[in-house]
Amino acid sequence: MKNPATALIELRKRIGAAEQKYGRLPGSVKLLAVTKTKLIKDIYPAIDCGQTDFAENYVQEAIGKITAINDSRLTWHFIGPIQSNKTRAIAEYFHWVHSLDRAKIALRLNDLRPDHLPPLNICIQINICNEQSKSGILPDALRELVKVCTALPRLRLRGLMALPVPSENFDQQRVPFRRLRELFDELHSSQPGLDTLSMGTSHDMEAAIAEGSTMVRIGTVLFGPRDHLLNR
Ligand SMILES: *Cc1c(COP(=O)(O)O)cnc(C)c1O
Repeated sequence: MKNPATALIELRKRIGAAEQKYGRLPGSVKLLAVTKTKLIKDIYPAIDCGQTDFAENYVQEAIGKITAINDSRLTWHFIGPIQSNKTRAIAEYFHWVHSLDRAKIALRLNDLRPDHLPPLNICIQINICNEQSKSGILPDALRELVKVCTALPRLRLRGLMALPVPSENFDQQRVPFRRLRELFDELHSSQPGLDTLSMGTSHDMEAAIAEGSTMVRIGTVLFGPRDHLLNR
C-alpha cells in the first residue's frame, strides 16, 4: 500500500483528469476521504497533505477521532446508516449528514443541533437501484422528505446522495448516477439552493464525475482495503 499522502496526490490528479475529460469545471468535484475503520495515525498524513473533508460511518468510532484530532479546519461528514439514538451525537459533532432517509431523523437532528453551530448540512440518501433492505428512500418519497427538511431551520438541505449496486462496467456504472442527477435537476428547479450531488466511490468515481458528481467519497484508494471483520 502506498502511503496516504502519495495516494492523495495521485487521486487528486485522477479527479482533475476526469473533470477535464467530462467537461466539468476544474475544482468542481470535492474529495471526501472516507476514514471508517482507519486509525488516527493514518489520517494525519492526509491532513498534512491539505485534505480537509473526512467521512465516517460509525458514530462512536468517529467521535473518538474527531475529538482526538480536534482540528477546527476540518469538515466531518456522516455517511453511515443513522440510528435514532445516535442523532444527538451526530448533530453535535458533524458538519454534514449524507444519509438522511427518514422524516423522524430529520426532526431529531433539527431539534438536537446545538444553537452555537450553523445549521447541519444535509443530503437525502436515495435508494437509486431499488434494493431490498438498503438505506435510502425510493425516488417517489423524495418530495415529501424535502418538504420536511426545508421547513426545519436547523437543517440546511444541500442535495442528494446514493451508493449504487457495484458494477465493473463503466457504462453500467453511469446509469444510476444519471438517474440521481436527473432527480437532482428536477428538484433544483424548485430548490435553487441545492448544490450537492454526493456520488462516486473508489471503484466508480470517474462514472460519477461524468454524470455530475460534486462530492466523491473515497476510502480504499486512499487508505487501502478495509479489514472485513472491522468493515461491519
Ligand atoms: C465506505 C463507503 C465509501 C467509500 O468506499 P470505498 O470503496 O472504500 O472508496 C463511500 N460511501 C459510503 C456510503 C461508504 O459507506
